[in-house]
Amino acid sequence: MKNVFVYCEITEEGHIADVSLELCSKGRKLADELNVDIEAVVIGTKLKGIQEELSPFGVDKVYIAEDKRLFPYTTLPHAAIFSKLLEEQQADVVLVGATSIGRDLAPRVASTLRCGLTADCTSLEIGDHYVKKTDTTYKNLLYQIRPAFGGNIVATIINPDMHPQMATVREGVMKKEPVRRKKLAELINIDVKKYVSDSDFVVNIIERHIEAQKVNIKGAQIIVAGGYGVGSKKNFNLLYQLADAIGGEVGATRAAVDAGYEEHERQIGQTGVTVRPKLYIACGISGAVQHRAGMDQSAQIISINTDLEAPITNIADYNINGRLEDVLPKMLKYFKQNSK
Ligand SMILES: Cc1cc2nc3c(=O)[nH]c(=O)nc-3n(C[C@H](O)[C@H](O)[C@H](O)COP(=O)(O)OP(=O)(O)OC[C@H]3O[C@@H](n4cnc5c(N)ncnc54)[C@H](O)[C@@H]3O)c2cc1C
Repeated sequence: MKNVFVYCEITEEGHIADVSLELCSKGRKLADELNVDIEAVVIGTKLKGIQEELSPFGVDKVYIAEDKRLFPYTTLPHAAIFSKLLEEQQADVVLVGATSIGRDLAPRVASTLRCGLTADCTSLEIGDHYVKKTDTTYKNLLYQIRPAFGGNIVATIINPDMHPQMATVREGVMKKEPVRRKKLAELINIDVKKYVSDSDFVVNIIERHIEAQKVNIKGAQIIVAGGYGVGSKKNFNLLYQLADAIGGEVGATRAAVDAGYEEHERQIGQTGVTVRPKLYIACGISGAVQHRAGMDQSAQIISINTDLEAPITNIADYNINGRLEDVLPKMLKYFKQNSK
């Protein structure tokens, strides 16, 4: 059948996770290019309304595996159901969120199906591949694009032979884009017993501790981000003052996090979160490729830097050449003056 499959995660509140909706949007575009269907797989309990949630994202079919033993996520039964279903349906492209669940599930499924898996893709495209040695052209492969070798190159990875082609993508990398379609996705309830055995339930979750999210930089429309150039934890207060005044959140580079200026939760980039705010104010940030990977889709970028040769200047819409210790208080002062 060669369809595109998306593993859809369920949030604690019983909704489809944002990353899964983003992947459904991307999957819809890939499926259109391949002229196939996109099918979502949802495994868990209390899955009422899921079909309605997924349909606006262009999903053609929703497989639901509902059983009270399938909540919360446990590797073995979830991997067993997903692998068997993909095999049975001869899935061609499989997308999974690069979340803690996806990072646990996808490698296990890939190893069961003996196919490849590319983690943390930053882009997915469809294209052909020609092998000169055998004079063979592979048509309509999934180009799994991601930074490699410490972010120094962007690699396009393909899997010509051992399908399905599997990729994980982090939240925020793809856009959540509903399609204009009134049709409800076809709903298929899976007979869970046929897909799992008792041995898949050997692990019991005895207790769960859920820590509330402290910051939500992914959802922020304005981000004031600081790098190593901020110089100290104390200097980050300048960023907080501006962020508070303009209704933004504070983000950081890995160098700032490693130096102890900020907590990891605020790290933006390849190994942090991906953001797309309306305004990104980069303070003392050089703009390394690993940082840009997490913020270059921002609508407007202002950079404050003492070095006009820093790579961030190439992607910034406005460059302020100066010390952030001088510039930030002035920005705050004039913002307050002008917004009275
Ligand atoms: C596998 C891998 C993953 C990575 N993941 C990430 C990631 O997720 N996120 C990330 O950010 N990085 C990541 N990095 C690190 C990345 O390569 C850079 O080292 C890092 O982004 C640099 O951070 P920075 O811009 O804060 O520091 P620097 O590169 O040290 O830049 C500091 C900047 O501040 C300017 N400056 C100095 N003083 C002032 C001042 N007083 N006022 C104004 N400007 C000043 C300087 O001119 C300079 O441009 C990763 C690296 C690897 C290898």
